[in-house]
Amino acid sequence: MPDAHARLSASGSKKWLNCPGSVRLEEKFPDKGSDYAAEGTTAHTLGELKIKLALKKITRPTYHKKIAQLEINGEMQEYTDGYRDYVLERLNNARSVCDADLMLMVEERIDLTDHVPDGFGTGDAVLVGSGLLEIIDLKYGKGVKVSAEENTQLMLYALGALTAYDWLYDIETVRLHIYQPRIDNVDMWECSADKLKEWGEWVRERALLALEDDAPCCAGKYCDDGFCKARAVCRAYNEEKQKPAYLDFKRPAELDTDEIAEVLEQADALAKWAKTVSEYALDQALNHGVRYPGFKLVEGRSNRVYTDEVAVITRLLENTAYTEKDILTRKLKGIADMEKMLGKKKFEAVLGELVVKPQGKPVLVRTEDKRPEINSNENAKADFEEILNGGN
Ligand code: SF4
Repeated sequence: MPDAHARLSASGSKKWLNCPGSVRLEEKFPDKGSDYAAEGTTAHTLGELKIKLALKKITRPTYHKKIAQLEINGEMQEYTDGYRDYVLERLNNARSVCDADLMLMVEERIDLTDHVPDGFGTGDAVLVGSGLLEIIDLKYGKGVKVSAEENTQLMLYALGALTAYDWLYDIETVRLHIYQPRIDNVDMWECSADKLKEWGEWVRERALLALEDDAPCCAGKYCDDGFCKARAVCRAYNEEKQKPAYLDFKRPAELDTDEIAEVLEQADALAKWAKTVSEYALDQALNHGVRYPGFKLVEGRSNRVYTDEVAVITRLLENTAYTEKDILTRKLKGIADMEKMLGKKKFEAVLGELVVKPQGKPVLVRTEDKRPEINSNENAKADFEEILNGGN
């Protein structure tokens, strides 16, 4: 669950641990809630209720009463079933190695104040037994693949749980899990409790630094990965983005392959940065009267729209010879929306054979990308053979 309201949030910890100045800079930008965040909250609530029902911590009528208040689709049912099963699997696994005093806490607040001033978080599922601590985090987003390895949010939760339970359970091993069902990402990372405590000492120092008024800003991958709200105005980020500006963009044919690779490396990030700055500047100009030299605010281009669709239909039927068939267009839901409504399994069973994935247009991506490389020469050869054999 998102741990809102903490000044040094666990979910944003990668950012403030690496860039202590981000805390001060981001405070100037209000939080914007989104539908995605609301959907994630619903999925967490549903997952929590399913686990509690499975553990008989709530009754079936209570479960049904509570889920009746949630906006759930078929896809969310499947994903949260998977999450519940994963948590129960970890619980069973822990039962086989730990004694009977095993504890599973679901959606419980974790106090982080021993390391982070006023810090707290919500552990989706926290499992504690003799010698063992496991933190399981449900990530309902599908935009960025989240790794469990050295995941600072989960490491902070683990530090909080260690502070609370180490004296009782003598914890030696800590396991961090990411369960991100919408992109089939299940990841686990293990470290020793000693290593985590050592890291906790560094966290204490960084947290205090982050709360200082002159904390330094330091740009890195976490600026974009952590969606820093200050990117449009941050000088450190701005300077980082302008690094490749020495390259001569006017005559790319004269750049060698290494230089072109460097441009490619930066192109995507530069486009996103330019978009962030443009959106910020538009908001400032529109809502705060800021004027930027060489720019003015104008009305954008627009298309004609009906003011009242029902009235349009009525008028057409009354005043022309056209029928409903002529004036209305029936449209099938898109594949993503249909899959969301039906859930993955039902979608596959009912529509699987009616869906194909056409070959995508070639695109240059970084070598770490998981998609297999296209051998362009081989493809050209195949095309040539197809032509020789009379294909289209
Ligand atoms: S954009 Fe990057 S460098 Fe700037 S405040 Fe945010 S995290 Fe720090």
